[in-house]
Amino acid sequence: MVQIAIIGSGPSGCYVADILAKKIPDSQIDLFDKLPTPFGLVRAGVAPDHLHTKNITRQFERLLSRENIRFVGNINLGTDLSYTELKQHYHIIVIASGAPLDNKLNIKGENLNGVYGAGEISRWYNGHPDSAHLNPHFSNAVAIIGNGNVALDIARILSKQHQQLINSDMHQQALAHLDSACIKDIYLIGRRSAADASFTSAELQELLSLPNIAAAIDSDQIPQLLPDHIEEGQRRNAEKNLALLRALNTSTQPSTKALIPTLVDGKTRLHFINCASAVSISGENNQATTLHLVKNHLEGATATPTDEYICVNVDTVISAIGFQSLSIPDIPFDSAKGIFLHQHGKIESGVYATGWCKRGSHGVIPANRVDAVNLAKTIIADWEHTVLPPHKTGFSGISTLLDNHNIKPVSYNDWLIIDQAEIKRATQSKPREKFTSATEMLALVNKS
Ligand SMILES: Cc1cc2nc3c(=O)[nH]c(=O)nc-3n(C[C@H](O)[C@H](O)[C@H](O)COP(=O)(O)OP(=O)(O)OC[C@H]3O[C@@H](n4cnc5c(N)ncnc54)[C@H](O)[C@@H]3O)c2cc1C
Repeated sequence: MVQIAIIGSGPSGCYVADILAKKIPDSQIDLFDKLPTPFGLVRAGVAPDHLHTKNITRQFERLLSRENIRFVGNINLGTDLSYTELKQHYHIIVIASGAPLDNKLNIKGENLNGVYGAGEISRWYNGHPDSAHLNPHFSNAVAIIGNGNVALDIARILSKQHQQLINSDMHQQALAHLDSACIKDIYLIGRRSAADASFTSAELQELLSLPNIAAAIDSDQIPQLLPDHIEEGQRRNAEKNLALLRALNTSTQPSTKALIPTLVDGKTRLHFINCASAVSISGENNQATTLHLVKNHLEGATATPTDEYICVNVDTVISAIGFQSLSIPDIPFDSAKGIFLHQHGKIESGVYATGWCKRGSHGVIPANRVDAVNLAKTIIADWEHTVLPPHKTGFSGISTLLDNHNIKPVSYNDWLIIDQAEIKRATQSKPREKFTSATEMLALVNKS
């Protein structure tokens, strides 16, 4: 029996488990997660109003109920279990631990109250136990730095009104917190031109179609022609983005000033500011009040700061500029890139990485399947060359270790109990009312 451990039950872990289970029939696959719940960012990153995207968990559910696959929740590799212990008990290890750390802006004022990372904010409104109790400071104005889909997700969630979120997957406390926030202005800040934005036109259209959004962008921030440096695969999306932005109110104001869309009662004003980078955040009484931006000069894909500055009055700053993985003791890690050190997915003999912890925080859920398919080929080729693999105990050995440390893993059946309890306590047409603390979930399945 080939004993396989996968660390992380997000999309990458699930995809690789699915493929290996089919390709190595005589295998037992143990899918570990530090949380008592499976599915990684599908549960705790994907926006709560995107229920169709979250529905991929149904496919993963079927995987977890298979006979040779075991979900082992509530086990953090690196604290509850060491890498050395894991290697002693498994033939093959795949690290699929994602990239949960927000990239830093590395500017003065980043530690002021009211400054958050997009990961923190999306975990907060998704009820992830690490951030569910964040209670972010929201008042009139929020600046979101970054031009990817995560930035748009956050802008959309912060602009939506109670009725538009009531049947989403957002937990009650977050919804109540947003209800009381009354955000009037959202600034979306991009380092380069609107043509360089990496968000998809579908996400942009969804945001701009909200009835309670009043959006505008300076016309001189939208290139007349698509710049040559935009790669072939991105050009169609960029064209669509520009067309959507051109259709907004335009202004003759100089681009050095933040544009002010018309304020209509009950609407959130959405300001697109492009070709600008954050240089510092200043505040009063330790609370962020002003975001300082420098205008950039663009030459191809290169943005160079000029000597023109913009000040934006804000209460909250959210950086949505990518994520890094968390290192795990004794596993080779590339701190500069924020990923595990690997060669085509291989960390060392019998140990591999896949998904965001391997290639960085790029790519949507299906991209992780492509990654998993390629990695499975490498793993199988390596395994076929393994002469006389030693006997490994797999989970029975791990289980003894965990018992000795009084650590209680959460099984797939335990997860089903948590899942059913969340579904049962949901009001309206919500899919579930999430438990937001691990202690609560563990008590429910007598594992506290
Ligand atoms: C805010 C946000 C919104 C997104 N929205 C979409 C979307 O709408 N559509 C889309 O297609 N893609 C979306 N994505 C991208 C998508 O979520 C990723 O492509 C995908 O989740 C990456 O999968 P992963 O398995 O590598 O990492 P993750 O999904 O992060 O899974 C990693 C898992 O590893 C576990 N783990 C971490 N460390 C340890 C440890 N030491 N021991 C045990 N377990 C550990 C974590 O608890 C987690 O469950 C979004 C991403 C973000 C950040």
